[in-house]
This record gives sequence, C-alpha cells and structure tokens, in this order.
Amino acid sequence: MKVHNFNAGPSVLPKEVIRKSVQSIIDFNNSGLSLLEISHRSIDFLEIIEKTTYLVKRVMNLNDDYSILFLQGGATLQFSMVPYNLMKKVAAYLDTGFWANNAIKEAKKFGKVKILFSGKEKKYTYISKNYEVPYNVDYFHCTSNNTIIGTQMKIFPKTSVPIVCDMSSDIFSRNLDFKQFGLIYASAQKNISTAGMTIVIVKKNILGKMKRKIPSYMNYKIHIKNGSILNTPNVFSIYTSMLTLEWIEKKGGISVLEKKNEYKAKLLYNEIDKNNCFENKIHQDDRSNMNVSFFLKDMNLKNEFNKMWKKENIIGLDGHRFLGGYRASIYNALPLKSVKFLIEVMKEFERKFSS
Ligand code: PMP
Repeated sequence: MKVHNFNAGPSVLPKEVIRKSVQSIIDFNNSGLSLLEISHRSIDFLEIIEKTTYLVKRVMNLNDDYSILFLQGGATLQFSMVPYNLMKKVAAYLDTGFWANNAIKEAKKFGKVKILFSGKEKKYTYISKNYEVPYNVDYFHCTSNNTIIGTQMKIFPKTSVPIVCDMSSDIFSRNLDFKQFGLIYASAQKNISTAGMTIVIVKKNILGKMKRKIPSYMNYKIHIKNGSILNTPNVFSIYTSMLTLEWIEKKGGISVLEKKNEYKAKLLYNEIDKNNCFENKIHQDDRSNMNVSFFLKDMNLKNEFNKMWKKENIIGLDGHRFLGGYRASIYNALPLKSVKFLIEVMKEFERKFSS
C-alpha cells in the first residue's frame, strides 16, 4: 500500500536502507549468519563501525580532531552526559523549546545555567539572533532544529567557547561548517539509522578538563578509548547508520540533500501561506526545513480535515501532543512527491471548505 509518511520520528527511511537491512538480518554478507547473530567484537562488526565512523567524517567534512561515538540512551542521556563531562561551574543555553528545556533541566543538576535567550513568552515561535555567548562559560548549548514547534537555527554564534549542539532532528540534512562545533549529538531515528542509537561527534581537545569523577558509561573519553564498544552496542542501528550514510553519499551528499529539503519546505510553506484554511505561526527566518507545523484557521473544520488526509493514506500529520495542530515532518528520505501530494490535499480542502 502506498502511504505518505510524515511521522516526526521514527519516520520515513530510504527504501534501499530497509531492503539492505532486511537482507542483512536474513543473511549477513553471505556468511550464513544473521547480522543479529554476530559478535560486536567480531571483525565483521569492527569493519562496520570503522566504515560508519569514516562516513560520518567524510559526509561532514571533519578531520581526526573529532571522535565519532555510537551510544545508547538517546539524546535524553546526552542532556546529562554533556554537563557531566564539560560543565565545571557554568554553561550557557538557548531555550528554544521542549527539548532544549529538557537539556536545561538536566544541566542545572551539575552547575549554573545561563539562559541567553528564551522563546517561551512567544511560544517558541522564533529564535533570537541577538545574544552574545559570554567568554567565561564552560560551553554553549543549542538545539539546531526544534522538532515539536518547527523552528530551526540558521546561524550559530561566533564564540571561543565550545558549541554543543543537539542535532537530533536535522543532522545530515544540510551542510554547515561542522568544525565550529565542539560536540554534536543526534539520536536516531529521523535522518539516520533506526532507533536505539545516538551519534556523538566530539572534538577531543574539549575533554578531560573536568575534575569530577564520571561513571564509565557517562564518560566520553572512556567510550573513545573503547571505540564505542565499552559494552554491547546496538549493532543493528550502527549497521543501518552505515547504510543511511551510503545512501546519503549516493544521493550526492548533504549539500544536494539540503537543496532538495529547502525546495520541499518552500513548496509546503508557500501553500500554507496562500491557503485560506491554514496558517503557520513561525517567524519566517526561523522556519524549519524538517518539521513544518501548521494550524487550521477554523478549528471547527478539524474533523473534516482529519477525515480527508487519513482517507488519502497520509500518516503522522497530527501535531505533537503538547502543541496540537499539524506537523509535516519532511526529512531527507521523504520524497518530493509526498509533499506535492499533501499540497494537493490541502488545496482540495480549501476548494471544499474555504468560506
Ligand atoms: N532532541 C530533539 C531535538 C528531539 O527531536 C528529540 C526527540 N527525538 C530528543 C532530543 C529526544 O530524543 P530521545 O528520545 O532519543 O532521547
């Protein structure tokens, strides 16, 4: 059955990645074993993790100043792992939404948090560019894409302190100068892999400055030393990361995907802006190219719109439970034709219900 999958995550994956990962479960590299049956310390798996590490660096144009880790515990664990490893006394955070807020809550358990900007009063519909990162904080933390509300940082501050960025919902979707970051983390699954794995990209020279004792699993340096196999890793998710990265390269890399993502987002925002039935509440400059949130102007039409898109095999368009409305997540693997299809449904809705 043809479905149009706008889920926010886990979400649509490239068909090729699904096909190859299914094959690896049945018979991994003609070995007679399933990928699920091999040891995480086997040569076969070490080759997978090595290749995945290499591909992350190549796709992001990073050198050996950076270590790449594949951990568990989601982005949620990173909310405390980051301050555990990096916060001596004080860190600066941007409060740009639900996930940023969760990161702040955890950081407060380790020291003082300076909030440089909070979008709370304006319901997180914009991201300020008018803040300065103090030179004397241990690091600056931001969330590049706010999955729930649908905002995205387009510029990052110039600062001498390490920039730590939660890229869970827009990693590998656009080309940035990744060398400006001290640490990037992104949990799966949106633009990469299958759930149960978090990629951490860390500049080695920002580590090891902390006096506090850090439990082994929470310690980046120990994971680096053990090549992400301190304990049993999520072999399957790391393998599907490798497949997704191969797919990204086959598509031409993140700069090509960025153009495609911009185009898909532009089409959809244009439709929302001109359609009499819908509105988007995000400041123009801060609109996300990954998660497009929108609302009905007339909430009395909710049942009619829901009936219409559900009948057309559109999946996952409901807004986040904290926000309501609608959200179309249009990650790398979502085809342009799904966006065009949704636009046609919205146009049809306008023809029928616009007053
Ligand atoms: N940060 C962002 C930006 C997210 O979108 C999410 C949800 N996927 C999280 C953090 C939390 O991730 P996890 O469920 O892996 O802990």
